[in-house]
Amino acid sequence: MEREVAGGCHCGAVRFEATIDTTLGLECNCSYCAKAAPLLAFTGGENFRQTAGEGAMTDYRFYKKVIAHLFCATCGISAFGRGETPDGQKMVAINLRCLDDLDMTGVHKGSFNGAAL
Ligand SMILES: [Zn+2]
Repeated sequence: MEREVAGGCHCGAVRFEATIDTTLGLECNCSYCAKAAPLLAFTGGENFRQTAGEGAMTDYRFYKKVIAHLFCATCGISAFGRGETPDGQKMVAINLRCLDDLDMTGVHKGSFNGAAL
């Protein structure tokens, strides 16, 4: 079930609001996520609004360089990343661990085969 959420990085420079399903968090097996360990919820760009910190982030890209692994340049936390689906739709991968007051006991874990992209 989708609901309104808000979240951000650790220091508060980066903030966002989104409408997403918070009952499923995906663990990605790509070489970046294997180290950073975010719990991801994917959604279309229309369901996501960055409310602070557009200029406070660093954009890290690797491999095909199509996914922007964004992180706060001050505290280092990656609250979300941006990319596009194969058909060109804007996509955001939100780190559920960065939501305000999310009860993680209600989040089921799944896996995302990012290593195969
Ligand atoms: Zn920060």
